Amino acid sequence: MTTALPDAPQTTGPGPASRFRPEWVSDARLASWTRWVAAPAGAATLTATAPYDGLPTAPVPACGPDDVAAAVAAARAAQPAWATLGVDERAEVVLRFHDLLVERQDEVLDLIQWEMGKARFHAWQEVLQVGNLARHYARHGRAYLEDRKVRPAIPLATSAREVRVPKGVVGIISPWNYPLYLGVGDLLPALVAGNTVVGKADPQTPLTLLWARALMAEAGLPEDAWKVVAGPGAEVGEALVDHVDYIAFTGSTATGRLVAERAARRLIGASLELGGKNPLIVRHDADLAVAARGTADAAFANTGQMCIHIERVLVHTDVYDDFREALLAATSGQRVGQAYDYAFGVGSLASQAQLDKVSAHVADAVAKGATVLAGGRALPEIGPFVYAPTVLEGVTEDMDLCLGETFGPVVALYRVADDDEAVAVANQGRAGLSASIFSKDIAAAQALAPRIRAGSVNINDGASLAAGTVEAGMGGMGDSGLGRRHGPEGIRKYTETQTVVASRIGPVGPPAGTPVAKFVALGNGQLRLLRRLRVR
Ligand code: NAD
Repeated sequence: MTTALPDAPQTTGPGPASRFRPEWVSDARLASWTRWVAAPAGAATLTATAPYDGLPTAPVPACGPDDVAAAVAAARAAQPAWATLGVDERAEVVLRFHDLLVERQDEVLDLIQWEMGKARFHAWQEVLQVGNLARHYARHGRAYLEDRKVRPAIPLATSAREVRVPKGVVGIISPWNYPLYLGVGDLLPALVAGNTVVGKADPQTPLTLLWARALMAEAGLPEDAWKVVAGPGAEVGEALVDHVDYIAFTGSTATGRLVAERAARRLIGASLELGGKNPLIVRHDADLAVAARGTADAAFANTGQMCIHIERVLVHTDVYDDFREALLAATSGQRVGQAYDYAFGVGSLASQAQLDKVSAHVADAVAKGATVLAGGRALPEIGPFVYAPTVLEGVTEDMDLCLGETFGPVVALYRVADDDEAVAVANQGRAGLSASIFSKDIAAAQALAPRIRAGSVNINDGASLAAGTVEAGMGGMGDSGLGRRHGPEGIRKYTETQTVVASRIGPVGPPAGTPVAKFVALGNGQLRLLRRLRVR
């Protein structure tokens, strides 16, 4: 049986299979991946739509709430044994996964493109990012999780340390726009920290995650250390939040709010990586050719379906006209197309829903007086969900596109008088994910950065540099989220600290026979002495 999904365009009947299905994806291979869905035999299936031709991909079993509960229970039963292995052995599994991923990357590049429609280079960036994260947490995990020896309450007679213990079962909910990076990148530190994981595959892109699950089995990960659930987003996602010990969510701000409320009711921790409306500032002293290239890269990367991509460009008035010309040249140079090779820089949007949203944003802006400088239309001659790289000016606050996330290859230009106005415009709205500054004066740009509400600021790069710096945290301020992925916080969030203290003199307090008043007087004397000696 095939059913329609509420949160992704789905086929409702058998229909013709996708013409773009990669040749090597046999039915046997599909079965070897879909077997990893934690659904009973004979479960209903869901089938997504391939963006390149609008035809069905492949049916994937769908879980219900009871299947999610059972998957979490299995992961919970497997967790102590996984934690007992020790960080080095867990890191070895992650490094073997790294090697297999690099070796077999062509398979997953095909799958990502088939399911999601992006250009191959942007699919490869997912492999790059996951590879870097795998090495990073395998090599640094031990140091990030190390015990912390602290000054004890009673020196010499007692000792104290803070140790990190895994949360238990971590739930990971990730969207379709980076199915490998967001599905696996957050999983790796959770595993290294000794948790087991239940991940929810996005209905648009389940095969990519299932391929990764199968590869992880080859790398030696035990069967129940990573369970995958699939199915309708709200039903399966909510059930996951209801059972796990921590939830790492990536998706829209609206859904993130629901997840946070649900997690709060259970008093479990949550990290929320949400939407953005990211600004890029072109200062008066910027190299305009470099700034135009950086803007085009950041605006059209992943067909604009990237949380950190640039949607607003704030240009100093002195260089506005020259920059506009340079950006239009860079935009007309974009190669738009659909192919399983590196010929094109901009691929398809992921779905009809995405095409509708992008088209509606541009139509609303144009109806209210914005000017289209480039693009501004769908390109059905290339593919059913393809949209031209688009540059607008004259966008005002009454337009949906001004402060609402478009999530497509569309960028708007704004003229600003100086740095102060650039900062004020950058901070409009409630999002705060990523920002960029182009300037030859790096020190001046660094001084500007803290005034912008954004979790990352890229100087002389459009978007990817901060995200690729995996040793530093990545996340949002304001409506763009809570918590950070990458770096120390990206793994420590999957642990609880436990304070372990020990006494060599038995229970602390007034020794037997000592009057309490005398003990208090001694204590007060000690407080005054330590203060005079400037002891912390
Ligand atoms: P979405 O919020 O609709 O869905 C995200 C995931 O949540 C999906 O897997 C979906 O099935 C699931 N889901 C749906 N309803 C749910 C519920 N009630 N409870 C739990 N899970 C539920 O987001 P989307 O439109 O698919 O993804 C695009 C959004 O994600 C954009 O806003 C983008 O900016 C954001 N995003 C953010 C980051 C980041 O790192 N900050 C990265 C990528 C994407």
